[in-house]
Amino acid sequence: MSRKKNLEKNLEMKLNKSKAAFKKAQRFMPGGVNSPVRAFKSVGGTPLFISSGKGSKIYDIDGNSYIDYVLSWGPLILGHAPRTVVSAIKKAAENGTSYGAPTKLETELAEMVIQAYPSMEKVRMVNSGTEATMSAIRAARAFTGRDKIIKFEGCYHGHADGLLVKAGSGAMTLGVPDSPGVPEGYALNTITLPYNDIKTFKSMIKKQWKKIACVIVEPVAGNMGCVLPVPGFLETLRKETLRSGIVLIFDEVMTGFRVAFGGAQQQFKIKPDLTCLGKVIGGGMPVGAYGGKEEIMSRISPEGPVYQAGTLSGNPIAMTAGIATLKTLAKKDTYKKLKASGDALEKGLKAAAKRARVKVRFYRAGTMFCTYFTDREVVDFNSAKTADTEKFAGYFLGMLKRGINIAPSQFESGFISLAHTSKDIDKTVRAAYEAMKE
Ligand SMILES: *Cc1c(COP(=O)(O)O)cnc(C)c1O
Repeated sequence: MSRKKNLEKNLEMKLNKSKAAFKKAQRFMPGGVNSPVRAFKSVGGTPLFISSGKGSKIYDIDGNSYIDYVLSWGPLILGHAPRTVVSAIKKAAENGTSYGAPTKLETELAEMVIQAYPSMEKVRMVNSGTEATMSAIRAARAFTGRDKIIKFEGCYHGHADGLLVKAGSGAMTLGVPDSPGVPEGYALNTITLPYNDIKTFKSMIKKQWKKIACVIVEPVAGNMGCVLPVPGFLETLRKETLRSGIVLIFDEVMTGFRVAFGGAQQQFKIKPDLTCLGKVIGGGMPVGAYGGKEEIMSRISPEGPVYQAGTLSGNPIAMTAGIATLKTLAKKDTYKKLKASGDALEKGLKAAAKRARVKVRFYRAGTMFCTYFTDREVVDFNSAKTADTEKFAGYFLGMLKRGINIAPSQFESGFISLAHTSKDIDKTVRAAYEAMKE
């Protein structure tokens, strides 16, 4: 029996209820889930069915508890069920869940966002990160009168058709659909380039700039693990797009309020034309936002002709959760505390790997991080793919068995919350050493 199978078997013994729940779920929903990565396909085993979360921990329906580094894939920077957010939501719900009419809450959250992101002069609330990027690209196309977009391999910007396009063979050729159901016509307008490759980007701009509406990028890539921008990469994107009248979109759905209160644009001191937000700004409720330069945002309906709408956009519950979350984050020393946790985890995990004699590369921006099972420097999708996913699967199951929940894929970021204590981190590091040794 392979090592992976063995571990899986160990796990299943205490996951009977999750196993039964998953079986039933698969009868009614594709793959038994509402978002693919939740199904644990890349690591094997049964996904945990969760009954509750509190602070740094989640509890499954079999009664097991785990220190959680998934945190709903990023939003829960305060941890699970923070008292301030939960009580604000309860109070708001008493007044009704949605009116389809303006409330002062929307302006309050918009003002907070704009204060934290000076590049955003106006902002529109939507319901997800996918909606934010899709709408920002529409605005960029309308503003420039051009059709093509540039994105980078390994970056994820949600599941809109035009964004599910991967690079064709050879960096300069046309893109190809990355999912059945995406018409080839979409691929014609999406150029996919390697992340952190300044030279290829420059030559593409030189050739095609007249046709390019926007460049969209994760300023720290969090959807192929965690890949930091090399010095000069973001600066080059800014310089070249300014020169060519191309809209630069920072997709900060993951990095926003995560790598710093003002996102990656604050950390790297670069002002994009448009910014997409999501995850943290919703405080665990479905929220996204896009915004930026007044001259672009004034084209959005009803001020301008670019159509974009939403029945539940800016609803009072979601706005309330976002406001309560950002208020807590804005307090003094919050990010200092988060950084200290990040530093401790980084130091501990690196030492654990060394002691267990396992070759890993660890990357981190604030409280998002990834441990790659490779000895190669990871700077883009190709180098990320050198990671040993079998080894990762073993590590994942070994951690789970020891009460640590990390993302069930090598190519996802982990997250730390304000609720994670130094005791949590010590326990995690000990578990990591044992899991790696195994
Ligand atoms: C999560 C994510 C999205 C998509 O957001 P959803 O709310 O899942 O639609 C887009 N861009 C980035 C960078 C993300 O991390």
